[in-house]
Amino acid sequence: MEISHEHLADTRRWVVKIGSAMVTDDGRGLDLDALGDWAEQIAALRNAGREVVLVSSGAVAEGIRRLGWAARPSALHELQAAAAVGQMGLVQAYESVFREHGFHSAQVLLTHEDLSDRQRYLNARSTLRTLLQLGVVPVVNENDTVATEEIRFGDNDTLAALTANLVEADALVILTDQEGVFDSDPRGNPEARLLDRVRANDTGLEAMAGGSGGALGRGGMLTKVRAARRAARSGATTLIASGRQPRVLSRLARGEALGTLLYPDREPLVARKQWIAGQLRVMGRLHLDEGAVRALVEQGRSLLPVGVRRVEGAFGRGEMVACVAPDGREIARGLANYAAGESRRICGAASDAIETILGYVDEPELIHRDNLVLV
Ligand code: GLU
Repeated sequence: MEISHEHLADTRRWVVKIGSAMVTDDGRGLDLDALGDWAEQIAALRNAGREVVLVSSGAVAEGIRRLGWAARPSALHELQAAAAVGQMGLVQAYESVFREHGFHSAQVLLTHEDLSDRQRYLNARSTLRTLLQLGVVPVVNENDTVATEEIRFGDNDTLAALTANLVEADALVILTDQEGVFDSDPRGNPEARLLDRVRANDTGLEAMAGGSGGALGRGGMLTKVRAARRAARSGATTLIASGRQPRVLSRLARGEALGTLLYPDREPLVARKQWIAGQLRVMGRLHLDEGAVRALVEQGRSLLPVGVRRVEGAFGRGEMVACVAPDGREIARGLANYAAGESRRICGAASDAIETILGYVDEPELIHRDNLVLV
């Protein structure tokens, strides 16, 4: 399957990642004009029905400037302190530029571990989904106080890919200070050619992407190419382009051929579902009635507690369970929104009774269809 730039025009959910050099004008301080420009474009994307999660670096770079340090320190605890200082400026700036276009922003600080722990993964996922439904623009950064992966290696490239996996984004747009991926290092080779589009899993890519990045952020092209491969696992197409091009997001949303497109091998929805299925061990079994089997298999619906007759196993919220038909066949697998004990209490009940039974409600469905794979 080949995907071209026009594909981006048909995509609905984007993760847009902006690197430190872009956000802080190469360390000179938060570039409010550039931020205002991106906010205006993201607001237009939202108004046209697209959902956008922003992943922004720049906390460390802005913190270094605010603290008056002449150079980037090498001690991790100092970088973490700088991030804590700079993050204040970052969120303040985003909130004010988005307010100008009638949108609220929201600060979401995550670590890689948050996204590999099932419970926290599901919590982060429902918070981000809720923010999108509320029309808010989430602004994600690494929680640098407790984590150091992106400070050390990635300038949020990996975090952006994990976020694309988390929200099952259709597209990951990485805005950087280069035009895209070149077939050799453009700094050393004037003949270097910009790649228009390439498979995210192309084995030659890492060699072409070469070494690491500038002094401000940590991410070179290599971490971006790896991020594209990671994003492709859940079916997202990645676009790496220069954030300095005028109206870059709006033009990409129209399908214009800018930067380098890195597309997944498999059909995006198939990739996404396989990714869910491949994530986890099956921790329990839900025995469904005929109505629920039809809702899942024929109508592509979510699994509601009312269609579940019996719950087997010990699983936590966010863990993988198998769905079993009355004749004993396994028909689907998915991530449970409620732990085994809670599922036992609500099975057979209508969704609007969940709150009365448990005293709270997380989601109306036991497994959301986006987290469900038919087998
Ligand atoms: N999360 C960090 C930031 O926003 C990563 C970038 C860096 O290490 O410079 O600043």
